[in-house]
Amino acid sequence: ANLTLVLTTVAVLVAWRDEADAKLQEQAFTDSLTGLVNRRGWDARAPAMFDQARRHGTPLALIMLDLDHFKRINDSQGHEVGDQVLRLFACVLLQHRRSSDLAARVGGEEFALLLPHTDQGAATLIEQRLRAALKLACSRQPQLSVDYSAGLALLQPGDDTLTTFIIRADSGLYLAKSQGRGR
Ligand code: GH3
Ligand code: MG
Ligand code: MG
Repeated sequence: ANLTLVLTTVAVLVAWRDEADAKLQEQAFTDSLTGLVNRRGWDARAPAMFDQARRHGTPLALIMLDLDHFKRINDSQGHEVGDQVLRLFACVLLQHRRSSDLAARVGGEEFALLLPHTDQGAATLIEQRLRAALKLACSRQPQLSVDYSAGLALLQPGDDTLTTFIIRADSGLYLAKSQGRGR
């Protein structure tokens, strides 16, 4: 009976520790302002998704997004409103993310959307829906109005590292910025 009690206690403690570990990791990977995956979570999850798509030859799309003239919002309406805008944007992102997608806040007002099994047509459609949903959300809360620029990259045979893939999406984003933003 003593042995059973000891073993049961150990099993309960191990299960409790595993659950506590999982909770800690979840917290460490979550951006507390927006609830999105943070940079650390992105770094932990994106490489595996990239490797998997490469190994199986399945489509993979990456959309890098950056809020337009976000500094102006902070400067004119205050940091607290800036935070609310970030939360609104994240909320729209989360609503349009499928369970297999990775939506992350990778920088202050920079976000990444990694979309497995997604080709150019589907990625473009997802981005258009996101833009329309943000427009609708902003029309309901005009004080939080914001727009964004985005760049899309599609996995190609020559993409040997996640970094080169990100750089391609980023160059699309910079092009969108230089061509007038909001695109
Ligand atoms: P662009 O259209 O060229 O991207 O212009 P921008 O103003 O969005 O870009 P810039 O990099 O000049 O400014 C980004 C601003 O985002 C500056 C920084 O203070 C603000 N920011 C970063 N993180 C946060 C945050 O957590 N909360 C708030 N309120 N502001 C933040
Ligand atoms: Mg930026
Ligand atoms: Mg910006």
